[in-house]
Amino acid sequence: MLAIINARIVTVDEQGTIINSGTIVVDENGLISQIADGTISHTSDKVIDARGAIVMPGLVNAHAHLGMTLFRGLGDDMNLEDFLSRLMPAEIRMLDHEAVVAGTELGALESLLGGITTTLDMYYLPDAAQEVAQRSGMRIFSAPNLLEGDGPEPLPFDARMEWAEQWLIQANATGNDSLNWLAPHSTYLLGEEHLLRIAALAEKYNAHIHVHAAESYGEMQLVSNRHNGRTPIQVLADTDLLTDAVLAHGVHLTDEDIELIAEHGASVTHCPASNQKLASGTARVIDLHAAGVNVALGTDGPASGNDLDLWLAMRLAGYAQKNTAKDPTVMPALDILRMATINGARALHADHLIGSLEVGKAADIIVLDADSPSLTPIFDPHVAIVAAAGRGDVMSVIVNGQVVVHEKRVLTINHAETVQKVHALGGVVMAAVEEVERSRRK
Ligand SMILES: [Zn+2]
Repeated sequence: MLAIINARIVTVDEQGTIINSGTIVVDENGLISQIADGTISHTSDKVIDARGAIVMPGLVNAHAHLGMTLFRGLGDDMNLEDFLSRLMPAEIRMLDHEAVVAGTELGALESLLGGITTTLDMYYLPDAAQEVAQRSGMRIFSAPNLLEGDGPEPLPFDARMEWAEQWLIQANATGNDSLNWLAPHSTYLLGEEHLLRIAALAEKYNAHIHVHAAESYGEMQLVSNRHNGRTPIQVLADTDLLTDAVLAHGVHLTDEDIELIAEHGASVTHCPASNQKLASGTARVIDLHAAGVNVALGTDGPASGNDLDLWLAMRLAGYAQKNTAKDPTVMPALDILRMATINGARALHADHLIGSLEVGKAADIIVLDADSPSLTPIFDPHVAIVAAAGRGDVMSVIVNGQVVVHEKRVLTINHAETVQKVHALGGVVMAAVEEVERSRRK
């Protein structure tokens, strides 16, 4: 069905295999049927000539709030707590299905053009994200977003739990594991009894957990006050939410926390752009690696990020660790590339399907620009990807065998209309934020 020829294939497989000039063949089910050195015969009707460019797995963004593109740039130069108290009430005030569709579609457009093929999303009204996923071809893993208070759905906690159960029943009925998730916001916005109820619901449906944990200095204090001096990780362990969970941020971890995370098989999604912008601290990525914890990479929401750029995240992740450790040898390029691909897939319980280019896996593939000045010359492709490539270098994007970006143009989304829709919502967004500011001053 599809073949990519003359490809410098960066597989990100177990051995980190690179094929300098090879061919990838994709079958009619969107799976990779062959990867080989040189040219191989195939019957594909569609052929992409990579002309020697890097061909690599699609990037996995393991923590984002796609719909939050609507609020991009409205939470700057402030810490997490100020950011949340400004934006969360505004979101709850103005969001509806159509608005979240508009924001998520812009997020999908930005993601796909930047080489992100899969995102673990945490946002309100998650039906909206699924509508966008179907239309755009992007893989979006979503879940009911669980807060103690009302959300824009709007639902008080009890009704929210019933709605979450319906969501999981449907996910299980359709066998769609990418929807078999619950997203309790955090241990600072949820009390012990709420967390226990969420854990019981997750256990009933074997659902995965996506939660913010140990992000900022302020959070550590809030959680300690609310949960009898415990850390967010201890609270999650005590409420049965830690096993196999995706922990967004994981910046402030004690040695005991790291042990708990490792014991429970949880993954940490490191979000270096968000952490550095909000001055949240530097995650202990090297210690997490040493403890055998799976560390993925995320952009966080576009109001805290402020963009959905995993190339930047790769760059910042490595540089921050090298600088903090005062050791440039830590976090070599392939380790960082794994964080943005296969480790993300593992965090999402989808590494059997995505995260590396291997026969039998889904064809989630990106082709970089053969003529990119910053990718010339290429002596070590892993280093080129992590230290020199950027979103502008993404030439083609394929998800599950479907070409969704061709020659830097998205095929599945109406680019101009998507941008225009979010511009048009600007007035409503600003009015909601100003209303919150006014009521805070009273
Ligand atoms: Zn977040």
